[in-house]
Amino acid sequence: MEYYLPRILTTKQQIKQAPSHLPIFVNGIELFQNIQVQTIEFCNLKCDFCPNHYIIYDRIDDKKNGIPYNKMSIYDYTRIVKNLAQLNYNGRFSPYLMNEPLIDKKRIVELISIARQHLPNSFIQIDSNGTGMTEKLLGEMIEAGLNRIQLDDYFDDENAMKMVKIIEAYVNTSTFFGIVSSNYNVTQAKRGEKNKHTHYGPNTYWNRGGLVNVNPDIPVPQKDCGYPSEQMYVKWNGEAILCCCDWEYKVIHGNVLDSSIEEVWTSDSYEHYRKTLKKGRRDLLRMCRKCNKGGCTSEEDRGLNNE
Ligand code: SF4
Ligand code: SF4
Repeated sequence: MEYYLPRILTTKQQIKQAPSHLPIFVNGIELFQNIQVQTIEFCNLKCDFCPNHYIIYDRIDDKKNGIPYNKMSIYDYTRIVKNLAQLNYNGRFSPYLMNEPLIDKKRIVELISIARQHLPNSFIQIDSNGTGMTEKLLGEMIEAGLNRIQLDDYFDDENAMKMVKIIEAYVNTSTFFGIVSSNYNVTQAKRGEKNKHTHYGPNTYWNRGGLVNVNPDIPVPQKDCGYPSEQMYVKWNGEAILCCCDWEYKVIHGNVLDSSIEEVWTSDSYEHYRKTLKKGRRDLLRMCRKCNKGGCTSEEDRGLNNE
């Protein structure tokens, strides 16, 4: 079996996670600590643990047929950011969701800058597959207010090292932290035979609400999942969806552009999910009833030994 570096981290990996936030309550319900906002609905890869590997075909067809990617307008994005500012939001803010944020390359610096302007105390973070990353672009994003980037490498060590080099150019920037994570567990069919690496893990990936056939032998644990209590996920048209697994938009709690973030967050629909999950009753909830997230947390749990 051919092994590749499983994980490459930059030198400061111990620090600069989103700092602890001050809790904010709305109608007696604690506000989320993380929010992800989808500015564009597209990713250029198709990792086999991610529902995008089958959804992408439709979106590529759309593109070929001259139908542009769905995007959130700067106007709507700014409304959302201002709504957060009114709530004194100080948690993590991420201008990406179930997409590749650098597909929105022409706007990403402006998007970060708008968030920084209105949310001075938030920790701004993006995760990217790095395919559109350059040292110049990263510098501009940091200048605009980016605090953290995770570049996920899905190809090979050469690609990972290229990304490490880009991040290391900013290693002395005190307000910024970068990390490169290698994930050779996935197949990238588009990159040809040489990039079809042997799959060796991680063996703990979950099945994304039952949408992908990854580790199907991990049972659905009838226990809580913190996502609906801790994180809000807003898609390009303002709809707040269940979580980052919900690529088919099966569970929509409301629309933050039609009402407000606080109204949607405290809605009956969100509360139903939170309370039912806290009782450990995934079986009663759409998506969650098939989701094996948390079904095992380590390879030892599964009796696997990758030595
Ligand atoms: S895991 Fe990330 S890079 Fe891979 S297909 Fe999904 S969104 Fe794209
Ligand atoms: S249990 Fe439900 S909320 Fe949690 S990740 Fe799975 S589908 Fe999403």
